[in-house]
Amino acid sequence: MESTKSLPPLRVLLVEDSEDDAELLRLELRRVYKLSMDRVESAQAMQRALNDQEYDIVISDHVMPRFSSTAALAVLKASGKVLPFIIVSGTIGEELAVAAMKAGASDYVLKGNLARLLPAIEREVADAEVRRRAEHEAKESEERFRATFSQAAVGIAQVAPDGRWLRVNQRLCDIVGYSEAELLGKTFQDITYADDLESDLEYVRQILADEIRTFTMEKRYIRKDGTLVWINLTVSLVRAADGSPKYFISVIEDITRRKATEAQLMHLATHDHLTHLPNRSLLQDRITQAIAHAERAERQMAVLFLDLDRFKNINDSLGHDVGDKLIIVLAERLRGIVRGGDTVARVGGDEFVLVITELQYETQAENIARKVLEVLAEPEVVDGTELFLCGSIGISLYPRDGRDCHTLLKNADAAMYRAKEAGRNQFQFFTQEMNANAVHRLTLENELRHALEREEFSLHYQPQIDLANGAVVGMEALLRWHSPTRGMVPPAEFIPLAEESGLIVPIGEWVLRTACAQNKAWLNAGMQSLRVAVNISARQCRLNSLTKLVERVLADTGLDACHLELEITESLLMDNPEESASTLRDLNQMGIQLAIDDFGTGYSSLSYLKRFPIHTLKIDQSFVRDITTDPDDAAIVKAVIAMARSLKLRVVAEGVETVEQLEFLRAHECEGMQGYYFSKPMPTEQFAPWLDQWQGV
Ligand code: GH3
Ligand code: MG
Repeated sequence: MESTKSLPPLRVLLVEDSEDDAELLRLELRRVYKLSMDRVESAQAMQRALNDQEYDIVISDHVMPRFSSTAALAVLKASGKVLPFIIVSGTIGEELAVAAMKAGASDYVLKGNLARLLPAIEREVADAEVRRRAEHEAKESEERFRATFSQAAVGIAQVAPDGRWLRVNQRLCDIVGYSEAELLGKTFQDITYADDLESDLEYVRQILADEIRTFTMEKRYIRKDGTLVWINLTVSLVRAADGSPKYFISVIEDITRRKATEAQLMHLATHDHLTHLPNRSLLQDRITQAIAHAERAERQMAVLFLDLDRFKNINDSLGHDVGDKLIIVLAERLRGIVRGGDTVARVGGDEFVLVITELQYETQAENIARKVLEVLAEPEVVDGTELFLCGSIGISLYPRDGRDCHTLLKNADAAMYRAKEAGRNQFQFFTQEMNANAVHRLTLENELRHALEREEFSLHYQPQIDLANGAVVGMEALLRWHSPTRGMVPPAEFIPLAEESGLIVPIGEWVLRTACAQNKAWLNAGMQSLRVAVNISARQCRLNSLTKLVERVLADTGLDACHLELEITESLLMDNPEESASTLRDLNQMGIQLAIDDFGTGYSSLSYLKRFPIHTLKIDQSFVRDITTDPDDAAIVKAVIAMARSLKLRVVAEGVETVEQLEFLRAHECEGMQGYYFSKPMPTEQFAPWLDQWQGV
C-alpha cells in the first residue's frame, strides 16, 4: 500500500458496463482506501443496490449501452439518498459536464486522468459528511423549536418588521383570545392598548436602528372580548445574512395576576386601612400634582387640615371601636363634600386633610371649611347613643401661603393649631404671624428637651399660711426654668408646650421627686413639719399611672404621704370623671392630701366635686385680686367659702397681695392663704431662713 493517510473504509457503488474499467478503478482506489465496491449496469440493479446497501459515494460512467450517468442520477435522487455522485468518463465534453453538474453530479473525472479521482472522492465524501451532520442538526433543532414553540407556557411569536404576526403559538392565542388564523391577519399594533403603543414603537425603532439588541417591557393587549391583559414582552430581532431585519422573536408572558397583586400592595401602601382614604404619602403626591395643575391654570388651591376636638374623650368614654366607627362615618361624609378632582386624606389618628383644587376665591375654601364643620356636627347613632363630633380646621392657600407641599401642610397645621387655641370647633386661615409663632415654639421645644439633662430647672417654694393662727402650714413647689439663652422663662410660656410635646411627663416626675426629696431633707434637718404641694398638670400623665409614680417617689425619697399634697386642676377631673374618681380615691387612701387648683375657672360645680375625695379648694387669684373692689368677685368668693365649708373642704385663697384682701378673707373665714403679701416664691436656700424669721400675721 502506498497510502500515506489513514482514511476510513470506502463503500462505492459503481455504475459501469466494463469490468476492465471497473478493475482499473478498483486498483486505483485500493491504493488509498480499504475498499468495498459493487458494480451495476442497469437502473434496476442500481435501485436494488441502493435499497440493500449503504454507500459513501456513487461513481458512474457517462455513457453505457443500456444506462447513462443522467439516468443513474435520477435513480439516486429517487432513492432519497443523498450521496456524492462523480462521473468518470473517457469522452465527456465540457458542455455535458456542466449539464451533469446542474443535474446534481458532484464532479467529473476523465478516465485518462484518474489521478484527479482520489482527491475528488476525498473532498466529496468529507463534504457529504458535513452536510449530513448539518442536516441532522437542523432537523433536530427544528423539531426542538417546534415543540418549544407550540407547547410553551409563554406566548411566542415571530413578528414581521412592520408588525404583522407571522407565526404565533397556542399560548399567545389563549392570552389574547384570538384564534391563530385571526391573529395572523393582524399586527401587534392592532391589539396594543393605545396608552402603551408609543413606548413600544419607540423600542421597535431602536432595535431596528441597531441601538439596542433586545428589549423588555410591560404593556397591555386588548383581548378579543375588549378586556385588557397585562403582559411582559421580550423582543429580539433576527437579521438576514446581509444584516437586513428578517423578523422579531417576541416572548409574551401574561402578568395580569402579578399586576393585580402589585396594585393591591400599592393600595395598601398608599391608603389608610380604616377608612381607605389616601394616606399621607399619597396625599403628598396629590398635593404636588395639584400645585402643578394650579400653576398651569393660574388658579389657587387650598389645603384644609382638620383635627377632631377632644376625640380622645370619645375613645376613653365609649371605647376605641366606637371611635373607629365615627372615623369611618366621618371619612364618608368628608368624601361627599369634595369634587372628583379633590382629595380627602387621613394623615393621623383624628387628622384629615382636604385638598381643594380649582379655587377662584378664598371664600370657596371658607365654604368648604364651614361644610366640614356642618357634617361633623351631624349626629351619628352608634350603639344606641347619639354622638356629635367637632373639629378644628386650619387652611393654607397656594400660592399665597406656600408653593410646595411641605410648606402648605405645615402652614395649614399651624392654622389648625391656632383654631384649637382660639376655642376649637372653628376654622382659621394661615397668617405669616402664625409662622413666626411656630418657629418660636419649635426652637423653644428643642431647648426644653435639653433643659432637664442640663439641669436648667429649679423649684421655688411659696409658703401657705393658716389664717386662724398665722402659722406656716405648707409650701407650694413652683417650677422655674432658667434658660442660658432666654433667661427666666415664665411657666405660662413653657408648660403648655411641655404638655403638648409630652415632655411634661419627665419634667413632672422631676418636680415631684425634687419637691419630695427637699421636704424630706428639711424634715431631717429639723425644720418644722410642713406639707409640700405639687402641681399635677392636666396632660402630665394618665391618671392611673399617677398613683404608681407617687408611690415610687415616696418610697425612693422616704417622705411620708401626709407631707405631700397634690394640686389638680378642674379640667383634669372634668375630662375624665370616672378614671379620676378612682385614682383620687387611691391617692387619698395612701394618705395624700388633694387640692383643686384654680377653682372657679373651670366648669365644675361644687356639688359635682362631692364625688371626689378632695380636701382643699384653692380659689384662683383672678377672683382674689378684685374682692375688695368688685362686688361680683366678692360675692363669688363668699359663696365659694360658704359652700366649701358645708362640704367640709378647706379653702385656700391664692394671690393675696394686700392687707385689705387679707382682712376680707379673714372676715369670711377663709382658712388658708398664699401670696406676695406673705412672701413671693423663694429659691430653696432662702426658704428655711425665711421660715425662721416668720412671725405670723
Ligand atoms: P384635641 O382637641 O386637642 O385635638 O384633643 P384630642 O383628644 O382629639 O387629642 P389629639 O388630637 O392630640 O389626639 C387624637 C386622639 O385620637 C388620640 C386617640 O385617642 C384618638 N385616636 C387616634 N387614632 C385613632 C384611631 O385609629 N381610632 C380611634 N378610635 N381613635 C384614635
Ligand atoms: Mg384631636
